[in-house]
Parts: sequence; C-alpha cells; structure tokens
Amino acid sequence: DSTLQPAYLAKLNAEQRLAVEHGDGQIAGPLLVIAGAGSGKTNTLAHRVAHLIVKGADPRRILLMTFSRRAATEMARRVERIAGEVLGRDASVIADALSWAGTFHGIGARLLRDYALTIGLDPAFTIHDREDSADLMNLARHELGFSKTESRFPTKGTCLAIYSRTVNAQAPLGEVLGSAFPWCAGWAEQLKTLFAGYVEAKQAQNVLDYDDLLLYWAQMAAEPEIASHLSSRFDHVLVDEYQDTNRLQASILSALKPDGAGLTVVGDDAQSIYSFRAAEVRNILDFPQQFARAADVIMLERNYRSTVTILAAANAVISEAPERFTKNLWSERKSSQKPKLVSVRDEAEQANYVCQAILAEREAGTVLTSQAVLFRASHHSGPLEIELTRRNIPFVKFGGLKFLDAAHVKDVLAVLRFAENPRDRVAGFRVLQLLPGIGPSAASAVVEIMATSLDEAMGLARYRPPQRAADDWPAFVALYSGLRARSGKWLADLEQVRLWYEPHLERMHEDATTRRADLMQLEQIASGYASRERFLTELTLDPPDATSDQAGPPHRDEDYLILSTIHSAKGQEWKNVFVLNTVDGCIPADLGVGTKEDIEEERRLLYVAMTRAKDGLHLVTPQRFYPHNQPARGDRNVYASRSRFIPASILGTFEQTSWVSVHAKDDPRHRPEVRVDLGARMRGMWK
Ligand code: ATP
Ligand code: MG
Repeated sequence: DSTLQPAYLAKLNAEQRLAVEHGDGQIAGPLLVIAGAGSGKTNTLAHRVAHLIVKGADPRRILLMTFSRRAATEMARRVERIAGEVLGRDASVIADALSWAGTFHGIGARLLRDYALTIGLDPAFTIHDREDSADLMNLARHELGFSKTESRFPTKGTCLAIYSRTVNAQAPLGEVLGSAFPWCAGWAEQLKTLFAGYVEAKQAQNVLDYDDLLLYWAQMAAEPEIASHLSSRFDHVLVDEYQDTNRLQASILSALKPDGAGLTVVGDDAQSIYSFRAAEVRNILDFPQQFARAADVIMLERNYRSTVTILAAANAVISEAPERFTKNLWSERKSSQKPKLVSVRDEAEQANYVCQAILAEREAGTVLTSQAVLFRASHHSGPLEIELTRRNIPFVKFGGLKFLDAAHVKDVLAVLRFAENPRDRVAGFRVLQLLPGIGPSAASAVVEIMATSLDEAMGLARYRPPQRAADDWPAFVALYSGLRARSGKWLADLEQVRLWYEPHLERMHEDATTRRADLMQLEQIASGYASRERFLTELTLDPPDATSDQAGPPHRDEDYLILSTIHSAKGQEWKNVFVLNTVDGCIPADLGVGTKEDIEEERRLLYVAMTRAKDGLHLVTPQRFYPHNQPARGDRNVYASRSRFIPASILGTFEQTSWVSVHAKDDPRHRPEVRVDLGARMRGMWK
C-alpha cells in the first residue's frame, strides 16, 4: 500500500528506490550502484542510510565513508533531514548517533586509537601530514647519507610519493618504480634501505603518516580475532566515490565484510581521477564478482543535475574514451544555452573574463556561492586570485594552500603535538627552534632527551640551554609542563600557547598583527572540538581551506566565490562553473612520460569538471599559457591550443566565443595582427 510508504521514497526514481530499499532495512547482500555524474548516487546513499534508520537500524552501527569530511558532514545532515521527517523529534539525535561517518583516514585514526593497546601502538600517537612526512623522510635520507653521496638521489617529495604509492597499491617497489617512477628505477636498493629507516623512525617516535592509517587498519582487520570484533561493530558499511579507492581500502572493506553482507558501494568509473594515489578503477569493476554471493548491481541513467546542453557536451567528451562501463546519461532539464568555449588572449585576460562573467551573473541574481571556478592545479588560480582581490570579490579556495599551512599556525599546532607526543621529532624540532638561541644542534639534544625520558617535563627542566636561550627557557618549560599535565580546559591551554608564542611571532614577522588574527581564528575553530587529540587528528587529516580573507574561513552568512582544484570538486555541484586553462599542456597536462592511461585519466578529469555545472558552463582557453612545470626561457608563455579532448567533431556542442576586456583594448600589446604601411600609402597618393 503506497500510502503507508514514507514520503521520501516517492521522490526517487525506480532504480534509486531499488537501491534504497535493497534488503528493506535488513542486512542484505553486497550492493553496487554504478552510474554517471549527477545521477543521484550520493543522494541515493543518503536516502539508503535514512531508510535503514527508519526501519530500525542503529545509527551507531552504521559506517559511512565519503571522500572528504565536508562530504561526510553534509551526508549526515541530509540523513537527519530525511529520516527526521518520518521519525519526528528524534532527528538531531540521528545525526549525532551517526558518528561513524567520515573519510577512510579519519575513521582509521579513530579505530586505531581505540584498538591501539591491542595492536601494540601507543594510543598517544600523533599524525604527520604530508609536509611533516616529507621532513621525516628527509631526515632519514640525511642520516643514511644518500642525499650527500648520491647527488642525483630522488628528492624527499619524490621519495615520499614512491613510498606512498607502494603502500597504497600494495605492490612491490620494483613494479611501482617501473610503472610510475621509471627515472628512479636505478635507486631501488637505496630506496628499500631508506623506507626501512623511515618506518623505524616513525615507530620510534610514535607517529603515523596518512598511509599508516590505512595500512595499520588493513593489517589490524586481517588479524582473525580482531577482525571478527571489528566487523561485528558495524551492521552496515556504505562507501561513496568507490572508483577512487585503492587496493588497501578495498582490502579493508573485504576484511570488514568478508561475505559482502551489509556492504554498499557507489561510484562512477568515468570519474576515476586518483590513480596517482594508487586508486584502482578495477575495485569498482571487480566488485560484483568479489564475494561468494554475487553483488546486486544497480545502474542509474537519468541525470538530475545538468541541462541537456551541458550534458551533451560532457557526454561528447567522455564518449571518446576507449574503455567505459557507465552509459551516457540523459536529462530533462531543457535549455537553449550551450556551454561556452571562450577564447582569451592570456591568463590575465582569462581572470578578467571570469570576474566580469561572475559579477554579471551575480547582478542577474546568482549568488557567488552558487558559482565555482575550477582548475587543474592549485597554482593555476594565481592570476585570478590577484584579480579577485583587486576587485574585492571574496573567495574560498578548496584543495589549495590550506589555512594550516601558514607557518605561524603550524608553529602553534606543533607545540600542541609536541605536548601530545614528546617523541614526535618533527614537531619538537619546529617548536624548540622558535626559541632564540636554540639552533639545530641544541634542538637535537632536547629531542633526544624527550625520546628517552620517562618524565619529559622533568627532563626539560633539567636541561641547560645555550646561554642565549637561558632567559626564554623557563617560560617554555612551564608552558610544556602545563600542557603535558592537561591541568586546565584544553581551549584555555590553546590560549596559553598563543600567549607564549606572541612575543616570538612579533620578533620573527613584520605582519604579526594579521598572523595573530589567524591564531584567534584557530581558537575559534578549536572551540568546536571536545579534546586536543580530536582537534589535532581532524585538522591534520582534513584542514580548513584558505580564503581571500587573511583572518581565515569566512562566516557562514557571507557570500563568497568557490575556487577549487578539479580533484577537490568531486561530488559537488554549482549553478555556474568556469574551467580555467582548458588547453593542451594543462588539460591534459604536459605529460612527458605520460602513458595512454595517464592521458585517459586527464579526459576523465575534464569530464568531472564539466559535470559539476547545473545551468552554466564556461571552458576558458587562453591563447597563451604559462606552463609552470617547465624551465623558464625567454618569453615564458607558450602558445596553447584548445584541449585535445574537445576535437573539432564535438565543437558543435559548444557556443564558441572570443573575449577581449576593455582594459586589454587599451593595452598596446593588443593590436590587430596586421601589418600595413600607412606611410607608404600616403606617399603613394602623390605618385
Ligand atoms: P556525482 O557523480 O557528481 O557525485 P551523484 O551521482 O552523486 O553525482 P547527486 O549529487 O547525488 O549525484 O545528485 C545530483 C543532483 O540531482 C542533486 O542536486 C540531487 O539533489 C538531484 N537528484 C538526485 N536524485 C533526484 C531525484 N530522484 N529527483 C530530483 N532530484 C534528484
Ligand atoms: Mg556523488
């Protein structure tokens, strides 16, 4: 009887509803929803979770994994809204109880702390972000002497990338070197030694890097006794964006749910864009046959996001891909406006174009937050950021330099981390050298004391600092002891750190005032966290984004433009979308060693970018483009041409225009490219 069905089911189409009702609230066999962009996969997943809860599932026993913490929070809110309609007053309780919603890394960190003692980890471990990890890798390189004797030894960043890829792909080093880092293949033996040293250093210091969160989790889940305990904790495990998981993540899932019961994954193979982090599109393609009992597979083909014209262009781009599982999508959102392919002179003009178009749209009623500018790499938005700032257009940048990357914010966090884990050398080095008079050798001595002391605060108090540091030393010891003892409320502790740090800030930086504002902002962010450990973990894993406003993320009620790398725009949608530098050399990037597969991933990247748009899409193609990855020579700009993913055969799906700013018309460099000798013509008049 349809009148007894909850109203939320009526809003779904038949296939979405099948996915939501699969098992009808009970633990059922494995389910795969594989479908194109904007077909409602994420929406369906939210409805499925809500439906499970409405049917009586315990939200505390639901594990929900998404691509970012932002996406997880958004999903929990949607579930609350949907289930709340039916369950009434219990709504806010639902979202709180749905506490196991997060990223693979975030969930991993929580489980590892939970089981730390069982698996021989010290629960006070701290987590290194990529920069800290690279620093530790560098330390190991130096200690082994590789960076000195071997002049062409891979950089710390490359070493870390190779290490990370090997771990995430669960592949032998030789294989990873051969396929992804051929120019480093000669260093295989040294790299093995280096990685062993790096692993040892992490263990000695009780730090985990991002990859460890997955690696330890996978290893833990593979231990028979722990495995059954872990898997009985969660009745339902649901994963969004499954096409971008790697082998390690797939092995975690199959250890959690060996027979696939209670497991739901959704994704789109045409949007797989993380192979550089060892993501494995085979994960999603192999899922149906992975379990003893074949998974149910549901495909969605109607796109609810984009207009027919935008979809036609996006379909045209992806249709050229040689291998693809999901089918072309259709939409009922009629529109007479084709997506625009806009030719401009250079990147400065590109910035001008985007600014005026965005302002015009805002005049017409589209707020800034419904508009986004997407680009391949973070540095590509540089000229645009300058122009936005000049015109006072506020923006938030996703996936670029983070608020937390600012040196002063890192300093304060390092103090907290060092207090949390005295063996964390990277944090220790950073903190100690804030004190005038303490250089690398004194810092090493202190870090050594901390690594071996039973009572770290006492060890510090006994240490005799170099003469120049003597005045500042007692205040530091007092601060550190207080933080170790956790005597006060943790937010008050954070304030203490700032008060201690401020004089150093003023000594080191001319713009101390703006930096102090950042630290106040940090305290604001911190007030949302119950404990120091939770704050450090979550901020390290998923830091807040940088903004045009020095004082940190804007307030909720402010209107601001979104700037994002395409990778970070995954799963999101905006009314208007601008894609910068849709030219060869950028999309696809200039891939010197690019294989055919690498190029195909670039095509999917453009597809992801285009399918973020609901009503308006502008692909901008500057005729001259600054390739940041090439050594500078002469005029650094190169002449660029339209991306090869938009061949002449599909140009008809676009409206082609070229654009010149008023400003550029005044620029002497921008004159018609003709040569006429008017002087000769004048003289000729009298002949
Ligand atoms: P992506 O592949 O980009 O992650 P997706 O498949 O996850 O996309 P959603 O983000 O879930 O798609 O949905 C896209 C848009 O379509 C959203 O605005 C969503 O609210 C809307 N939508 C989904 N299903 C329906 C439906 N049955 N009726 C109306 N709107 C829908
Ligand atoms: Mg989605």
